[in-house]
Parts: sequence; structure tokens; C-alpha cells
Amino acid sequence: MPIRQLAPDVAAKIAAGEVVERPASVVKELVENALDAGARAVRVELQNGGLGLIRVTDDGQGIPAEELPLAFARHATSKIGALADLERIATLGFRGEALASIAAVARVTLSSRPREMIAGAQLEMNEGVLGAVTPAGVAAGTMVTVRDLFASVPARLKFLKTRATETGHALRLVEQYALAYPEVRFSVVSEGRQVFTTPGDGRLFTVLVAVYGLGIAEQMVPLAGSESRDGMAGAPSTPARDKESDRPDVIGYVSRPSCYKSTRGYLSFFVNRRWVQSRTLSYAVEEAYHSLLLTGRHPIAVVNVTLDPALLDANVHPAKTEVKFLRDRQVYAAVQRAVREAVVATAESPAVSRSIFSVPAWERPAPLTSSMHPHASVPSGEDAASDGFASQEAPARPSENGEANGEVFPSHLFPGETGHTAAPANGFRVPGQDADALVGGVKLPVLRVLGQVSQSYIITEGPDGVYMVDQHAAHERILLERMITEWQERAVSSQLLLQPATVELSAAEREVVDEHVEALRAIGFEIEPFGGDALLVRALPAVLAGQPHPQPLRDLLLELAGADAEAASHGETWEEHALANVACKAAIKAGQTLSPQEQRELIRQLEGTSAHQSCCHGRPTMVHLSLSALEREFDRR
Ligand code: ADP
Ligand code: MG
Repeated sequence: MPIRQLAPDVAAKIAAGEVVERPASVVKELVENALDAGARAVRVELQNGGLGLIRVTDDGQGIPAEELPLAFARHATSKIGALADLERIATLGFRGEALASIAAVARVTLSSRPREMIAGAQLEMNEGVLGAVTPAGVAAGTMVTVRDLFASVPARLKFLKTRATETGHALRLVEQYALAYPEVRFSVVSEGRQVFTTPGDGRLFTVLVAVYGLGIAEQMVPLAGSESRDGMAGAPSTPARDKESDRPDVIGYVSRPSCYKSTRGYLSFFVNRRWVQSRTLSYAVEEAYHSLLLTGRHPIAVVNVTLDPALLDANVHPAKTEVKFLRDRQVYAAVQRAVREAVVATAESPAVSRSIFSVPAWERPAPLTSSMHPHASVPSGEDAASDGFASQEAPARPSENGEANGEVFPSHLFPGETGHTAAPANGFRVPGQDADALVGGVKLPVLRVLGQVSQSYIITEGPDGVYMVDQHAAHERILLERMITEWQERAVSSQLLLQPATVELSAAEREVVDEHVEALRAIGFEIEPFGGDALLVRALPAVLAGQPHPQPLRDLLLELAGADAEAASHGETWEEHALANVACKAAIKAGQTLSPQEQRELIRQLEGTSAHQSCCHGRPTMVHLSLSALEREFDRR
């Protein structure tokens, strides 16, 4: 086929495809126009999932009769005038092609009356053919009715899903805008039934309730500064942006770690009140939950970022659902920090029995997956965990002093803690003694050790029922906390090797280690050059010293030294990542039999940590089965 210019209507339909993908895209453009027009109330009606009819009615500023035809013209907009305006976009629309695109693939009626006029007007455009402007008796504001969407584009129709699905997409869209504009009253009517409404009281919390229900809304916490602003007129449209530093302002709500979803579909992001999809922002939020949520679990979040429009490119996507940040890292860091602060604050709330995870173990997926600890050796005893109780094949219990064989963690794994077994023989602790201490503002329950299950879990009794502890996760948490403290005080304990070890490296590997040699020293390694590219290791972090080493020292060094990218991807510094890695390797494994005394010691030390409900990889260290849950299970009430 020779090259030919496409007929204008064909070209228009192709161009429309970029903007109008499905009924929800039409809803999006119309709702954005209503918001740009300063509407305080936006009503959306749908018939047949939007394919029959989409009508958006607003009480905004309206369009004068003589401008109605222009509204339909491609690249006609009242929102920007010159190219330079693109650098400071303050409205949701600016491309001037939404109405034109919609009218290319549907029958559109536009009727409007500016508030100051007594009469309104209306204009129809059908498949790209413009009608005449006629007077119309309409309320102040604008009403756009879209009928027979895609009726002439069967290729597009084919790709649409069921009515329910399309209605769902459209509804979700309105919900997003409702979250971004709590001061606007929204309502959605589908097939004649009201399916969504917000009061427009200016409070984001109210919209959260409307969108997610009270149960979830109550599980959400405001980001710092949001609560005071929530409820103020116009909030969050006029957040007090830090003018001097030009730093992004971040407000919103995020879920407590105890409340989560299995998909990322519950993360809502608004940048200067534009609803956007953003990997940077999703990443920032998910990273903020690092070590507080298991993998595969995702938070619920509504995050509003406000920043100088000059630091933003909103014109990178035809449907304007993506933005580019000029200072990507700054935005990432601001969001991550804001969310992390809010989430950590909830994790430290004093209500231990609530903050301790209370999903019964058998309702959760197997808590120890080797994929989360790619480097930890998980002994075979691990498999027995699924049965709930120790298997018949459990190795014989070693002697109580814990030195009978290499499987038992010797007490020196708790450096500086040996000989400090405060618990009386029966394991009960007297309230008021050490276990009652306040650590990080958290009142810790006194736990009585009942025994070990499946060589992996320690079962204890506390003030309200049974607390089951994952021995590996718990020990890892204990060691990590101790190492972090020592590291901060520049006093990480090292253990000299009886025989210094030589490590042969390639030139490239040597470079990687050299780059981190100071940092490696700070976490307890003693390393010196040893001819060519080889190194001599004289000492290890003390926690690793007593350990039988499944991993050659060379691999360990390279793994630790080369983990910059991995650390960054977890939002950690190299040191934090390395310490967590060392703690994981040094911690007792699942499948290791512990003597009663070792079990008590472990629990006592766990009580002394500050974030005792989750290990550094985010798996819970503890599962709580409350007395009332037990009573329910046994039909006692
Ligand atoms: P854009 O939003 O990018 O400017 P549109 O095609 O969506 O382009 O709209 C074209 C113009 O029509 C807008 O710039 C605005 O002036 C006017 N307009 C559209 N919808 C409304 C509305 N609901 N209320 C007031 N004016 C509107
Ligand atoms: Mg628009």
C-alpha cells in the first residue's frame, strides 16, 4: 500500500484511542474537567457500565455559550496559553483534547451555564460532527452526557470486559478523585442505583470510610501533619509546603502493619492533587514497611504529594496518569520518611496484645520460607513445622547445658549475657522485675516458657493467652538490635580467629571489598592485604564466631561487600543491610533443639528488644492466641 494521509475522522479515532481506552477513561476526563472548573459537587451516572451512558454533572464555573464549540475542538483549552505554561501546570487538564477525543468515538452532549448568566446553552457532537448551539434551561455548572461510547469502534468494544467490570473501573476512578478532593461532594449512580457518595466535608478520613469502610479506615494512621490539617476548609488543597527548602510536602493516611492487602491495588497517589501511577511512590511506601510486612503483603495508602509544579513534568502520558519528578530521589525520600515515621509510631504503641500479631499460626502461610533467607541454611527439621508438633524423627534432646552437639546454640551466642538467667526455675517472672521493664515505651508482657514445638517455635504463656515465638526470627532480632547498638557506639565486638584465614580474590572482587573495608571493620571484621589480590581475615563479628560455618569466608565477604544495590533497594544503608545479614546468619535456625533454659533465655532477651513483634526481614517473631480466641475456638462463648 502506498503511503496516504488518513482521513480526518479515522485519524481522530486513532488519536482518541490514546486518551479513551474504556468508559472509566471518559469518566476520568470529565471528572477532571469538573474539578478544574472549581466544582463543589460532582455527580456521575452510568448505564450499562458506561457504554450506554456516562453523564457527569458539576456545579463549577460553566462555559459561556459562545465557547461551547471551542470546547470540542482539539487542542483547545482555557488552561494553558503558551509552551512555558507547561512548566507550571496547576490544573488537571491542559492538553485540550479530552472532549475532542471522546466526541470522536461517541455521541456527546455538552450543556452549561456560567453562574453569572441567566440562560444556559447546549451543543451536541456526534462521531466528530458538530451540531448547533441551542439555548437550554440548565442549572449553573456543566453537564456532559456521553452516549453509545465505542459504538463505531468495534475493535475497541471487543476488548472491554463485562458491565460489572467496567462499572467497577469507573467507580474506582471516582473513588480516587474523592480521596484527592475531600472537600468535593461526589456521587456515583449506576443503573439507577446510588453506589457511592461522599459528604464533601473536607476530611480525608470521611472519604476513607466511604471508600474502604469504617473497619479499614480505623486501621489507618495519618502521616505527620495530616491530622491537624484534615478537616480544615480546603485541605489538603493548600498544604503548608515548605517554601524555603522547596521540599515536597507529604500528607495522607497509611495502614497499620496489622492491616494489609494481598495486592498493590490499594495504594493511591496524588501529586499536586493529580491521581497518578508512580513506581517511585509505590516503592517509597512499600519500603517504608520494610521489616514490618511479610512479602506478598501490601499496605493501603493514600498519599498526597505537593511540590512546586516546576519540579514536575505532568505531560508524559496521554491520559496524564504518570508524572516525572525532576528530583526523583528527593520525592522518594520524603514519602518514605513520612510513611515510615507514621508506621513505626503505630508499631510502638503500648497496647502489646494488639500490636503483637494475633493471627493464629495455622491460618498463616508457613512462616519460614528459605526464599526470604536465601543464604541461611535451613536444616531439615524445618519441614516438620507444618504438622504443628514435633515429628517422631526429632533428634534426641541434647543435654541441658546446650553443649552436647553442634546443633544447639551455645550460650556464648549471647555475648555478655551468659550467667544472667534471671528466671526462677518455673519460668515465671515476678512482675516489677527486669521483664517488666519499659523498652522503647513498650510495656512487655511476662512470658512463661511452655516448651518448643517442631524444634522451631517456642510456646509461651503470657497475660492474655498463648504467645508463639519463631526462634530464628526472635534470635535474629535480638542479635541485630545488639549489633546496631554496638555499631552506633563504634563498639562492635569482634572475635579473633584462632588461625587467620586467607581469602583469594580476583582483582575485581578485591576492588569491591576494598571499597568497603572500613565499613567491614566497623561491623567487626579485621582484614588486611596479603599479597596480590588476596586478603587475610584475622577477626569476625563476634556473633558469627562460635558458629559452624556453612558458607566459606570468601563468599561471605563478597556477599556483604557487594550488597550496595540490594541495600538501596530495601531503603537501607550498606551498614544496616550488612548487620541484618550477619544477624540472620548468626541466629539459631529453625530445626535446632533448644534446652528449656535456652528457650527461657531467648524469650527473656526477646522481651528486651524494642520491635519484638517482627524480625528484620519483616516476618513476625511472635504470634498471639488470645484467651478470648481460645474460648471462641472451644465454644465456651
Ligand atoms: P483540557 O481539560 O485539557 O483543557 P478538555 O478537552 O478536557 O481539555 O476541555 C476543553 C475546555 O473545555 C477546557 O479547557 C475548559 O475550558 C472547558 N471545559 C470542559 N469541561 C468543562 C466543565 N465541566 N466546566 C467548565 N469548563 C469545561
Ligand atoms: Mg480536560
